[in-house]
Amino acid sequence: MKLRDNFNRIHDYVRISLIDKCNLNCIYCNPSNTLAKYESNKSILFYEELYRLIKVLVKDLEVKKIRFTGGEPLIRKDIMKFFEMISSLKQQYDFEIGITTNGTHLLDKLDGLKKYGVERLNISLDTLNKTKFIAITGKDFFDETITAIRKSISLDFKSVKVNAVIIKNINDDELIKFVEYFKSYPITLRFIEYMPFTGNQWDDSKFLSWSEMKSQIEEKYSLTEIESDGKISKDFFVNESKLKVGFISSISDHFCDSCNRLRITASGKIKNCLFSNPSEVSLKSLLADESISDDEIVRFIQSTLQSKWLKHPSADELATLNQNNMMSIGG
Ligand code: SF4
Repeated sequence: MKLRDNFNRIHDYVRISLIDKCNLNCIYCNPSNTLAKYESNKSILFYEELYRLIKVLVKDLEVKKIRFTGGEPLIRKDIMKFFEMISSLKQQYDFEIGITTNGTHLLDKLDGLKKYGVERLNISLDTLNKTKFIAITGKDFFDETITAIRKSISLDFKSVKVNAVIIKNINDDELIKFVEYFKSYPITLRFIEYMPFTGNQWDDSKFLSWSEMKSQIEEKYSLTEIESDGKISKDFFVNESKLKVGFISSISDHFCDSCNRLRITASGKIKNCLFSNPSEVSLKSLLADESISDDEIVRFIQSTLQSKWLKHPSADELATLNQNNMMSIGG
């Protein structure tokens, strides 16, 4: 049975937050380190509960892609044991595994992730300048992140994407530098529009739309559009290079019509949309209870999806919402 919402959108992509803590304090996510309401270790989904959930998703709900996010997923204790557990499901069901990471704790885990069947890596890097990296993230992990990105590229994952959130007067002067730095690598650079989240002081004056970003790059490089079918990113080949660039236009040109994603928070609450409040009820109590059947879990997920809105509210309205912290939902 496919996971279908009231607008007939099939959801075959689930993003699961493994932890709502992060070792960085990025200015667009958790600037003052005060936003995250850390769940205690007992209230986040245990690995066994996550295993059951993933099995239900890929076996009963025909989910084809699972992406693990955070906070920063790779700082969770015994994380490689978890990926080893999940790798057994890969042998039985047809789905892909991806991770979104800030890259700071990635380097020593890359070989293991590859071995356990992780195919897609999205690594955040908002600047190529070490001093600016510290200013944006609050921490000095620039060298670790860059080294991990370079090794990821050499390991031949199915996809490596480098994600940069672009903010005016912070890093909008680096678009060309990014292209220059990565142009000989077969990866995708994704430039993400700055989105309003609780406490990140979003305002219009810091916002750069995807079309403005594209124009800047086109001053030096010509881009050829890659035909996409309902994808969230507008992708282009950078001519005469190995690189692709993508733009995520959540604010200036939302892609809600083709949304195929469902999010699950670290504590097991379902978030129908990045910007909506999570479900009241957590999946944790169902997953932990062996007397609850997988069918009941399927029904719960299906019924929660029915309240998904057609599209998210405007940026100004979003800026006023107060339960909207990117760190706890994994972006
Ligand atoms: S979750 Fe991502 S964006 Fe948020 S503080 Fe951590 S690294 Fe930065």
